[in-house]
Amino acid sequence: MLKIGSHVSFSDKGLLTAAEEAISYGSSTFMIYTGAPQNTRRKPIDTLYIEEGKARMESAGIGEIVVHAPYIINLGSYKDDTFELAVNFLQEEIRRTDAIGVRNIVLHPGAYTDKDAEFGINRIAEGLNEVLAGTSGTAVNIALETMAGKGTEIGRSFEEIAAIIEKVKDNHRLTVCMDTCHMHDAGYDLVHDLDGVLETFDRIVGLDRVAVVHVNDSKNPRGASKDRHAPIGAGWLGHEAISNIIRHDALKGRPFILETPWIGKVDKKERPMYEAEIALLRGDVKARFGESFLEDVEKLHHYFGKHEIVPRSFIIDTWTLLKNDAKAKKADPREPMERLYDMLEVDGPLSSELSEEQVNQRLTAWFAGKDLLVKA
Ligand SMILES: [Zn+2]
Repeated sequence: MLKIGSHVSFSDKGLLTAAEEAISYGSSTFMIYTGAPQNTRRKPIDTLYIEEGKARMESAGIGEIVVHAPYIINLGSYKDDTFELAVNFLQEEIRRTDAIGVRNIVLHPGAYTDKDAEFGINRIAEGLNEVLAGTSGTAVNIALETMAGKGTEIGRSFEEIAAIIEKVKDNHRLTVCMDTCHMHDAGYDLVHDLDGVLETFDRIVGLDRVAVVHVNDSKNPRGASKDRHAPIGAGWLGHEAISNIIRHDALKGRPFILETPWIGKVDKKERPMYEAEIALLRGDVKARFGESFLEDVEKLHHYFGKHEIVPRSFIIDTWTLLKNDAKAKKADPREPMERLYDMLEVDGPLSSELSEEQVNQRLTAWFAGKDLLVKA
């Protein structure tokens, strides 16, 4: 079975809350932060509803899940206090991850700040050696995430990931988390050369190291080094490229985790597109959303067809305009999905009874192309 899910909240009743949220999206896996990603405050492990959460997961057929380490951890820092905090806190997080029964904790390798990449790689390896030695009693692997190359972050190339792994003694406990948005932003061509990118990864790092895949579209063109996630289909990668990734034999069996942005015109009413994204990627939209959902998507094809709007070119053209034309962006800063939503509000074919979330779910399905109507 395809393992696909999203990042979910671990607040309130911990693992039980996380499992319930994941189930509400139709997930078969999910990812949590054990507490706020930006601080080190953590609830005691016995208040995290671990047994209850596991029982709920089991009843829903959810097996493997993933933990993400907080991004305040920077093993690449030359500052001793930052580095020490990173080593100590990562060890605590690994023990918590072990107590929850999770095999992989995803880690952003680190950033070299005022030094250089070579310093960063050595420092990260030094930190990982300490962390792994201090947690040898656990069954947890550290999944180094492929990064976009924003600022001074390490992990933007497969070579950097390999260099870290090579310098770590117990490196059988190092795995990799591929992030589709990050790889694209770092310059890898997942749209036209997926096989080539995976072969390159296999040669430099080894595909057997891949333990998790973060599935995100990107708001920026390939090589932009930005790291801004877009909903599936609403970015430069597109639904088809992402669908090819999750179906690729080389990545079979891995948990695929969405970290796509929540959207909505009012901040407080923002909703994730996870449920629709999961159903579209898994291919069970009709079972999940019903016949009338697909009828609505067909109406969207007709409506936008009449206006000569093609999903891929509209999305790419809008992102290109927003990136390259400051004046046009100032006049109209709306992102592609919001523009499409607004068009539908004026004279679209969907029922006015539908919520903003429901309209956006249908737009997300429209991104998947007309094939969806045939295949579903
Ligand atoms: Zn991450």
